[in-house]
Amino acid sequence: MTETGRFAPSPTGALHAGSLVAALASWLDVRARGPQARWLVRIEDADTERCLPGMGEHILQQLAACALLPDEPPVWQTRRTDRYEAALERLKARGLAYPCGCSRKDIDEALARLGRRHERHGERVYPGTCRDGLHGKPARAWRFATERFEAASPSAAGALGEAHTGRVCFTDRRLGRQCQDVSREVGDFVLRRADGPWAYQLAVVVDDAEQGVTDVVRGEDLVDNTARQILLQRALGFPTPSYLHTPLVRGADGDKLSKQNGATSIDTSSPAAALAALDAAARVLGLSPATATDCPAALAAWVPEWRDLYNSRP
Ligand code: GLU
Repeated sequence: MTETGRFAPSPTGALHAGSLVAALASWLDVRARGPQARWLVRIEDADTERCLPGMGEHILQQLAACALLPDEPPVWQTRRTDRYEAALERLKARGLAYPCGCSRKDIDEALARLGRRHERHGERVYPGTCRDGLHGKPARAWRFATERFEAASPSAAGALGEAHTGRVCFTDRRLGRQCQDVSREVGDFVLRRADGPWAYQLAVVVDDAEQGVTDVVRGEDLVDNTARQILLQRALGFPTPSYLHTPLVRGADGDKLSKQNGATSIDTSSPAAALAALDAAARVLGLSPATATDCPAALAAWVPEWRDLYNSRP
């Protein structure tokens, strides 16, 4: 299989210092594998409510200004909804997806009744209220039947040579071994909201599989989602790619850089500005300062360095 990596930005804002790190890392990872490997860009606009008009095109221009050019035309999730529909139908047919009528408030109340609290920034672990039916409520979402899947296929949870513990484990190329008990720490997660938008988890798994992605390189803020995605890959019969989660750029408050804590768009208004933005991203990845005077030459110089630092797969 052709080694394939991708950068999958959500067009909810322009590229900032943090997202450029993921773009650069995924590009270098592909180029370090040789000329046959492919680097793809996918605009993750499945969650249409949060996307800004024209932002996908703008991100592609910013990438191009940094000489980060995809090997194939970019893919847009909003043009692929039939694929997500087909995957959801397959899960439904196997009893692995069910409709849920709970609002956030319903879930919080159910958790409170169970004596469990929903921590701020924490997962709202779904207590399974609608597993046995909607209790007369209209459907608001489709959820993945995490426990049912794990119980039905203990070997799936242990496919990486583990005894069945209810945990999903994988070896991240930078962070090492990562494990999550998805039933206990996340619960039955959302695949689609009833008002239309597809959940990131389902869309990303379908797209990575159908685009033949073998190597996922993305920001560490997403590492917590990986176990969910591995479960979905197993449920849908897709291969699991290798994963590398890159260091985060922190905002002034110490949290991951985001629009909320001051992330501003990278400046790509001139070749020198684009090079400076790439150089800053390269430092976050532990690469040497650029000595080249343009983006293509700087990128080429980082490829062998990347290979030395990150080339081992688990
Ligand atoms: N679209 C996601 C984001 O911008 C990234 C998804 C991924 O790389 O898996 O945070």
